[in-house]
Order: sequence, then structure tokens, then C-alpha cells
Amino acid sequence: MIKIIDINFLGTSSAIACFLIESDQELILIETGPSTVYNNLKKGIEDIGYDIKKIKHVFVTHIHLDHSGGAWRFAENGAKIYVHPNGMQHLIDPSKLIHSASKIYKDKMNMLWGEIKNIKKENVQSVEHREKIKVGNIIVESLHTPGHANHHIAWKVDQNIFTGDVAGAKIKSGPVLPACPPPEVDIEKWIQSLELIKKENPKVLYLTHFGKSTNVVSHIDEMKKRLKSWCLWIKKNSSNNNIEELTEKFNEYVSAFLKDEAKISNKLIEQYYTANPPYMSVSGLLRYWDKKNKN
Ligand SMILES: [Zn+2]
Repeated sequence: MIKIIDINFLGTSSAIACFLIESDQELILIETGPSTVYNNLKKGIEDIGYDIKKIKHVFVTHIHLDHSGGAWRFAENGAKIYVHPNGMQHLIDPSKLIHSASKIYKDKMNMLWGEIKNIKKENVQSVEHREKIKVGNIIVESLHTPGHANHHIAWKVDQNIFTGDVAGAKIKSGPVLPACPPPEVDIEKWIQSLELIKKENPKVLYLTHFGKSTNVVSHIDEMKKRLKSWCLWIKKNSSNNNIEELTEKFNEYVSAFLKDEAKISNKLIEQYYTANPPYMSVSGLLRYWDKKNKN
């Protein structure tokens, strides 16, 4: 019933997934990836036996470009895009989103995310916390799960939860790693969201980065632990005002962990870095501490 589609982002496998759910009547897509991989996604959907243009219900976990940068293409095919109320405006008019993403990705913007177009208001539906959307015989429930972004939704279908970025990335047998990009990281809210997911008692977490995670409790506990240790690392090292130096040091810290502690292969490290480059987390966590210190 749930199919994982590898969109082969930047030619790397197991970095970004989209999920196709077949109801008795219509198709549901969760996440779209960026528009640069639309043709890969089209092919993946064709391989399962469907025409991408038949997809009329697209659920996005949040409006970061690796999750929903390609949503406009589905809207042009007549699909409805379901999103958090705070994310809605950024799909209708992505100019602010493009502006802030450009600060992070600079000259790589176009290569990574390609074209980003406005979505017509009538193609976007905002979804409240605990709201249930019925598509054929499938019920998709919204769990507002702030922390990674304040407009984040984890989508629950039966005993499965599609966690976007709230439960971090876990690729194959690798460790669970958070992604903490600016500007909305909030560790306290994030921990609460992870508790909420745990209480739902799901059997499977479907991670955009990447695929299925079935040891739900240990996955969530590992995520909480790593989130806290990254957060504290940044606090401890934040007296260094040279952001480039700090980023380099953080990269060393993460790669030492992946190599020496998690003991994963270079290929797997590369997949993690394509899915979630750790450098983003430096500015995201610095900003989190800045806000916290001001309050
Ligand atoms: Zn994200």
C-alpha cells in the first residue's frame, strides 16, 4: 500500500524519498522533493504503474525545498497541496522562501532546487493539528510537530507516521542525525514533537531521509540524544565568532562521529551529506541560542 520512491537527488540514492499511497480510489503522494527531480519521480511512479498527472492529493511535511520545492508541478496538474497553516503562504508566494534559502545555498540554489513557481490559492489547503483528511478509504491525520520548522507536519496513516525532518535522517543501518537549518529551530518544541510521535505508538516511521525505520522507540530516543548533543556542542563552541572556522570544526566533529563511533562507510557518509549537509545546522543552532539568550 505504501511505496517508497527514491528520487535519486543529485544522482545519490537513498538521500530523499517520496511516498505513494494507493487508496481504493485515488493516489496520495507524501513529499515531492525539489522540481529538479520531477522526472525521476515521474519515472518512479510510472514504474509502480501510474501516471504522475493522476495524483490529485499531495501532502508535504514542510516547505523546505528538498521536501516540497516541486509541489507547484503537481498543482499545475490539478493536485491539491496539503500544508501547515504557517507554510501555506510560502507555497502561494515563494519569494520570501527563495530569499532566505538563497542565503543558505548561495550560488548552488538553481543547481539544487531548480525552478520554484507560485501555486494558486485554490490548490493549497492548510491543515490544522489533528485534522483528518479522507482520500478514498485512506485517512491522513495531521500532527503539528514544530522544532525543525514551526510549520512542520508529520502525517499519520494508520500506524505509520511520515516524519519529514522531525525524526531526523537515518539512512540504511546508519545513525539518526538531525538537521537544524535556520531560521526556526526550537529544541524544546522539537523534543515535545518527538514525544508526541512516540505517544502515537506508530509501528513504522517513514523518513524523507530515508525510507523506513521500524525500531521506533530507540529511533526517537537516539534522535533526542543527538539533537541535545549537537545543540550543546554549538553552545560550548559558540564563543568562536568566525562562522567558517566554527563550521569546519563542526564538520570535523560530525565526521569523526560517523567514522569512529558510528563506523559507517564513506559511501554512506556521502549519502548523509547529500540528504542533510551538516553545515546548515551550525547557523541554525547559533540562531536558536541567540534567540534563547535574548529571552
Ligand atoms: Zn527541512
